[in-house]
Amino acid sequence: MEFETRAIHDGQEPDPASGAITTPIYQTSTYVQEAVGVHKGYDYARVANPTRTALQECIASLEGAAHGRAFSSGLGAATTLMHLLSPGDHVVAVNDVYGGIYRMFTQVYEPKGYRFTFLTAEEISSGLAEHLDEQTRLVWLETPTNPALNIVDIAAAAEAARAGGAHVVVDNTFATPYLQQPLALGADVVLHSTTKYLGGHSDVIGGFLATNDDALAERLAFLQKSLGAVPGPFDAWLVLRGVKTLAVRMDRHCRNAEAVAVFLERHRRVERVLYPGLPSHPGHTLAARQMRNFGGMVSFLLDDEQEAVDLVARTKIWKLAESLGGVESLIEHPARMTHASTADAPFAVPPTLIRLSVGIESADDLIEDLEIALAG
Ligand SMILES: *Cc1c(COP(=O)(O)O)cnc(C)c1O
Repeated sequence: MEFETRAIHDGQEPDPASGAITTPIYQTSTYVQEAVGVHKGYDYARVANPTRTALQECIASLEGAAHGRAFSSGLGAATTLMHLLSPGDHVVAVNDVYGGIYRMFTQVYEPKGYRFTFLTAEEISSGLAEHLDEQTRLVWLETPTNPALNIVDIAAAAEAARAGGAHVVVDNTFATPYLQQPLALGADVVLHSTTKYLGGHSDVIGGFLATNDDALAERLAFLQKSLGAVPGPFDAWLVLRGVKTLAVRMDRHCRNAEAVAVFLERHRRVERVLYPGLPSHPGHTLAARQMRNFGGMVSFLLDDEQEAVDLVARTKIWKLAESLGGVESLIEHPARMTHASTADAPFAVPPTLIRLSVGIESADDLIEDLEIALAG
């Protein structure tokens, strides 16, 4: 079955008790047993919940994965994944990872003796092998990256990592499974912040891990129940509902983002536009090869920091806020907001950069609002 059909039906048979077409919110902490150990597959809701099971089956299917696990947040998923490692182990990561992941790596795990090497998207795509050592357990990719929208060659990185005995995780939050299928390109694990496009309506925090590796899946299931970073049933239900419209939303996000990027590229006050869909973008050819379309995120640079800080507060339809991937358009200043934790890193976000999460409103309205804000 095609992606759009699986998004609506996989894991979501009509409720056996009532015929309800929508998966119920199983708001319960425990399940009654007929006799000791005799139950319907559910014994305690941290371990499993039918609403969460539906979500896990659905998103796993969309990623082309045999196994999926839902978490309380994207960072909850990342924390759980990091428990596959031990102090002394080495992680190679793309250097413009999500700010919260960078903070976790450098301020939580590095002090405990885990080692990290941060490389550019270009270094990972073309020369990963020379940065792997005996202790390298994980190669952590994000593509497109946040907020520079650099593109990493997933297939090339996966090949080098496999030869070096390391697993590859791809944070697929920006692309979504509709636009990019990392497991098919050779990755071992896909990570999501379902808070973003998968939920899609800026009303829930959630995370996800998907894999085709049976041994990894078994360990992740054990870690999910043992560490406990699980989503509640209502949060699982909100993401499940969001995913049903993922394909149509992404088509519109991509169309609007392209229109906005083209408008910005022609504007005289804009120094530079970063959008993988523009032929001027250094990762354009690679993105066209490994993605179905170029996504809903656009970044651009002005020539002055104060101008950038002022501009993000001047738009009307574009709301000044962190996060991304919802139906409504958001604008933000990463250096002082989402990426403040990378301020001291050698690869800190340029202070003149503005990030847009292009929503699904009318592209004409979005462009007009930017035009007025850019005119000062
Ligand atoms: C938001 C985000 C995360 C973290 O997810 P939360 O749900 O906020 O914990 C991780 N990676 C990327 C790319 C993100 O955008």
